[in-house]
Amino acid sequence: MIVVHGGAGRIGPERHARMRSGCLAAARVGHAILVAGGTALDAAIAAVRVLEDDPEYNAGTGAVLTREQTVETDAAVMDGRTQRVGAVAAVPNMGRAIDVARAVLDDGEHVLLAGTAALTFATERGIAQAPLDSLITERARQRFAEESARRQRGVAATSTVREGGTVGAVAMDRAGNFAAATSTGGIVYKRTGRVGDSPIPGAGTWADVRIAVSVTGDGEAVLRVALAHQIAMRVSLSGASLAGAVAASLADLKAITAGDAGVIAIDRHGPVIVHTTPTMPTAWIDDTGEHDEIDRFATQR
Ligand code: ASP
Repeated sequence: MIVVHGGAGRIGPERHARMRSGCLAAARVGHAILVAGGTALDAAIAAVRVLEDDPEYNAGTGAVLTREQTVETDAAVMDGRTQRVGAVAAVPNMGRAIDVARAVLDDGEHVLLAGTAALTFATERGIAQAPLDSLITERARQRFAEESARRQRGVAATSTVREGGTVGAVAMDRAGNFAAATSTGGIVYKRTGRVGDSPIPGAGTWADVRIAVSVTGDGEAVLRVALAHQIAMRVSLSGASLAGAVAASLADLKAITAGDAGVIAIDRHGPVIVHTTPTMPTAWIDDTGEHDEIDRFATQR
């Protein structure tokens, strides 16, 4: 079973079909790995890689721009069976940050590498930086222009206004192991060096022996409540259902921070998908077949 998301936000109706089909294509790649007996970790990473390469999403190619009009990405992968994590934060010009995160996990010395240290590590592992121009899309430039105009009026967009486009995947393999992977360009017009929730274990990404979670949305808000870990603790300590844990944690997020987010999560019983933003493109493949949605799981608009 695999679930993929393409970011909580507000995507115009003209792009809905494209965003859904991109997620489904990614889910199929991950699912093929599971069917062939591969691990949840490999499947989740493979799915995320497809969306990093897809210019429609805010990760890898198509990542949003910082205030200095550069690209810095965050990514994390977590293996539920071992609770080992690999993550990178604010890495400049990386097309596939998820591969660097995976290399950090495999290496095992550290959990999170940031900025140029992550780049040095990537180079050591033979993962090349992308030429900047190859990552920046017309849409990313447009999003930057819109946000800078907004900032000049003294306002900043939140995830109910932004298009979003962060990508993530959660998977369970035949052995019953879980994994989660998340990758993002972060939020448009962020300061360089800003790190969001996505690469932080327990905030934007989490997997253990019971569940896997990938979060998207208002990163600062998600960090403040450690959203993914909150969901996991509700399940493991209070015996809540996964759906109940996600709903209660999103309600807490709203009450404490006024922030919005989207969550994809799985346990042995299947997927849970919820977002408090208008849209979150999602696809999943389980025993019941292939599915994709973009606004069906919105809990408020
Ligand atoms: N949560 C991401 C961040 O704050 C952004 C997003 O999911 O849209 O970096």
